[in-house]
Amino acid sequence: MDSQEFREFGKAAVDYIADYFETIRERPVLPSVKPGYLGDLLPKEPPQTGESWQDVLQDVDRIIMPGLTHWHSPRFHAYYPTAHSFPAVVGEMLSAGFGCVGLSWIASPAYTELEVVMMNWLGKLLDLPEEFLNCSEGPGGGIIQGSASEVTFIGLLAAKEKKVKALMELNPDLKESDIKGKLVAYASDQSNSSVEKAGLLGSMPMRLLPANAEGKLTASTLLEAIRQDKNNGLIPCYVVACLGTTPTCAFDDLEELGPICNKEEIWLHVDAAYAGSAFACPEYRYLMKGVEFSDSFNFNPHKWMLVNFDCSAMWVKNAKYLVEAFNVQRIYLKDQHKGLAPEYRHWQISLGRRFRALKLWFVLKIYGVEGIQKHIRHQVDLAKYFEELVGRDKRFEVCTSSMGLVTFRLRGNDSLTQQLLEKVDDRKHIFVVAGRSDGKFVIRFAVCSRLTEKRDVDFSWEELLSQAEEIVPSKNK
Ligand code: PLP
Repeated sequence: MDSQEFREFGKAAVDYIADYFETIRERPVLPSVKPGYLGDLLPKEPPQTGESWQDVLQDVDRIIMPGLTHWHSPRFHAYYPTAHSFPAVVGEMLSAGFGCVGLSWIASPAYTELEVVMMNWLGKLLDLPEEFLNCSEGPGGGIIQGSASEVTFIGLLAAKEKKVKALMELNPDLKESDIKGKLVAYASDQSNSSVEKAGLLGSMPMRLLPANAEGKLTASTLLEAIRQDKNNGLIPCYVVACLGTTPTCAFDDLEELGPICNKEEIWLHVDAAYAGSAFACPEYRYLMKGVEFSDSFNFNPHKWMLVNFDCSAMWVKNAKYLVEAFNVQRIYLKDQHKGLAPEYRHWQISLGRRFRALKLWFVLKIYGVEGIQKHIRHQVDLAKYFEELVGRDKRFEVCTSSMGLVTFRLRGNDSLTQQLLEKVDDRKHIFVVAGRSDGKFVIRFAVCSRLTEKRDVDFSWEELLSQAEEIVPSKNK
C-alpha cells in the first residue's frame, strides 16, 4: 500500500468510525451472534494475493460489526466504563503512524519526555501529593502502564523487593528464599479479581479480608489479620486499598489504613482504577484523604477520563524500589541519561513501550480540566437521576449509589432480580450485569458512555420497568 492509498483508506476508516458513533444509539447494545460465528464467515486459509482496502472495510462491516458489543452505546451500563474520545482515537492513530518503540530514552526521547510531563499534569489534576510527581525534588514519579492489574502486580513485586532487602540488611544471616516464603499481602473481599491475581502471579498469598456492610476494609480487620499472621511467623508485606470497589464503588479509608501500613512497614498500594478520575473534581477529593500514607497510587484514565484503552496511571513515592526490582542491563541498552530522564523500562514488565502519553496529551489539551470535570459531574448526575427513578417505585430498592454506579434489586427473594436481569439482557436493548451487595443479588447500573443523556437513562429505566412488570406486576405496587 502506498501513501496515496493510505490517505484514502485512512480517511474512509475515520468516516466509518464517525458514522458508527452517529448511529450507535440505534443499535442493540449486545450482538446476536453465536460462538464460532466468525470462523464460518472467513476463508480457512489466508489469501494468496492481496485484496483492496475497500474489500477490507466491507469485511469489517459484514463480519466484525455484527460481533461487536457496543461499549459506547449510551445504553451500555455494564461493568465500569471504558473510555473513548475522538482526541484519544487520533492520538492512537498517530502513535501507530510513528511506530517507534520507547524502550529507552534515546529510542525516542519524545516518548519519555511527554510521559514525564503528562504524569505531572495528571498528578496535579488529581491534586496528588507533590512527592509522587516526577517534577518533585524527591525520588517519586509517575508512569503510564497498560492496566490496573499490571500496576497492582508491579506494586507487589516492588514491595517484595523492598521488604526482602530491608530484612536482609537487618539480619544478613537470613536467606532470601526464607523471607519470600513468609510474605503475605492483604486486600478486602470487595477488591477486584486482578488483586487476587497479583498475589497468585507474585507468589504472595493475598488474604481477602471481609469488608464491612459498607464495602470497606476496616482498620480493626486489617490489624487483626496482621496480628494473626505475625504470630504465625509470617511477614506482612503489601496492602491493596481500594478507592471505588468494583461491586459497589465503595471507598476504603486511607486515613485509617495508611498509618497502620506505615507503622508496620507494609507497602500500601491504592487501587483507584475507576473512581480515581473523579478526583479531578475538588468536591470528591475528601474520598482520597490519607493518600500521602501510600507508597503507590493507580487510576485508569482509560476507564473514566476519556482516554482510550490502554492508559493506566501509576505513581510511586520512591521509584528506586521499582528500578531495583526490574533493572536488568545489557550493553545495547546502556542508560546514557542517568538522573536526567527516567528509563521507564526499569519501572515496568515489558521492554518495549507504546506512546500512550500522546493520546493522554490530546485529551488533556482538547478537553482541558474543565471539560474533564464536566464529563465526570454529568455522569454522576445521571447516576443520581437513575437512583431517583428507582427510588420512586416501591417494588425496587436502591442498595448502593456511589459516583456513576447504582446497584438495585427487586424487593424480596434474589430470584426475582435474577429473572429481571436475564430478561433484560436477553432483549439486548440495554446491558447491565449482576453484582452482590451486602450478601444480596443486585443489578449494577453504571453510566458508561460519554454519549449517555437523560433520555437514555429514561429509556433504560423504562426497559427495566417493562421487564419487571412481567415478574412483579404494578398492581402489587
Ligand atoms: N481495580 C478495580 C477497582 C476495577 O474496577 C478494575 C476493573 O474494572 C480493575 C482494577 C482492573 O482494571 P484493568 O482492566 O485496567 O486491569
